[in-house]
Amino acid sequence: MSITEKRFLLLAVFCLEIVFLTVTNLAQDFEAKITLAPGASTTVQIEGKILKQKIVGSNKSWSFMRSFPGVENLGERIESLNLSNAKGERVAFRSLVPGEYLAEEQAENYLYQANLKTPNPAAMAHVSWIRDEQGILMLGDLLPQFTAANNQPISAKITFQLPVDWKIISREKKSGNGEFFVSDVEKAIFLIGKNWREKEISVDKNNLNFAISGEWKFSDDEAFQMAGEIFAEYKKQLGDIPFENARINLIHFPSEISFDRWEAETRGANVTILSSDMPFKTLSLQRLHEQLRHEIFHLWLPNSLALTGNYAWFYEGFTVYQSLRTALEMNQIRFEDFLRTLEQAQFIDSRRIRRTSLIEASKNRWNDSSSTVYARGMLIAFLCDLALLKNSKGKRSVADLFRQILKLYPISNKAVDGNTSVLSVLDGYAELRPIVEKYVSAAEKINWQTELESTGIESRESGSVLKLQVKTKLQNQEKNLLEKLGYNNWRKSLGKSK
Ligand SMILES: [Zn+2]
Repeated sequence: MSITEKRFLLLAVFCLEIVFLTVTNLAQDFEAKITLAPGASTTVQIEGKILKQKIVGSNKSWSFMRSFPGVENLGERIESLNLSNAKGERVAFRSLVPGEYLAEEQAENYLYQANLKTPNPAAMAHVSWIRDEQGILMLGDLLPQFTAANNQPISAKITFQLPVDWKIISREKKSGNGEFFVSDVEKAIFLIGKNWREKEISVDKNNLNFAISGEWKFSDDEAFQMAGEIFAEYKKQLGDIPFENARINLIHFPSEISFDRWEAETRGANVTILSSDMPFKTLSLQRLHEQLRHEIFHLWLPNSLALTGNYAWFYEGFTVYQSLRTALEMNQIRFEDFLRTLEQAQFIDSRRIRRTSLIEASKNRWNDSSSTVYARGMLIAFLCDLALLKNSKGKRSVADLFRQILKLYPISNKAVDGNTSVLSVLDGYAELRPIVEKYVSAAEKINWQTELESTGIESRESGSVLKLQVKTKLQNQEKNLLEKLGYNNWRKSLGKSK
């Protein structure tokens, strides 16, 4: 089975990054005890108390997450809410819409059930669910949405009371048996239930904790080793992440979901991948590599950055590109595969109906433009890489941009606007200005002839179809550029293995 057959899977990914900023505060804002509801297998009962009345929303209005990009009607999962005041007296309330409640007086204690039956596959990497004695609990959609007056993250003491043979797996701080101190409720993720296999992978001073479920064509050890190698490769490219430990959760989609589908999200330092398997082991391993390359990269961009707003054209588009570039670097794909993927991205970009700038497309990412931010964003990353390599005689590449952005906007800083910040960094390079002007801020058609000049790559276009290939006669400078891009990696590795 040829590698090229999977070349375009990466653009089909619906991957979601949410930028949350961490500030640790020591005393908890509220507490919650999570148990399985009596006699139920997919419903949890949550009982708790507000500890600090300064949190807004604890007053009279109680709300739960009602939707998530691509997932609607989450409020309908909340059932049997009970509120009481400090004296333990019942507080009456009205339900405005499912998941939104208005109490008649200030309440302090709460009790409710959340029905976590399996959502549609598209939602399974993004919201809580329990199925067949296994589940993922994401506190952001499970607990009432409190906000601190100063917009600080909300902290909580979370206690679980689950069947004795169930595991509770999380990167949150354990403070007792089944008890955790969560510094930021929105980011916290817990795996619960049976049949999780785990491994702690050390990479330098970081720990990567990997949990896996379901049967795959690859072995657990192959997956663990792969994750460690990819993490180490990005550390080499980009430097340290601000998290001491990160988690990877690889969960098999329910069996009725067909081959070749996956959903993923990287929330804070938690990577969650829901996936079906592939028909052959080689394909299965290649796809896992692709999933891990994309998601692990997000631990750096955007999750290590104090940048906000809709700038997915950069952190998705450039992630897809750098992940592909890393595949070349790690000898996972050949240079031809690299070029075929770019051709495919150009095809997607040329077929889009609404011609808006990438900045605009990022704002409407959840409407019609989700493939645009990936496909066109990736092409722009490629053009930037070429321009940087060309102008610096191979000394600078997009990895330098990433390092610069990570250094300028670390997560410990106060958050600033992502678009403004990234564009100001790109503006620092004269060779990138025309690319940004024409293809990011405006929606011009990419002029491949011009952009590929002196790169050693030539293009042919007919209609929506672009063909890219390495020139047969190369100047020294072009050879050098292609070498930096990874042109000869595959050949070199073949040489070595002989
Ligand atoms: Zn992504």
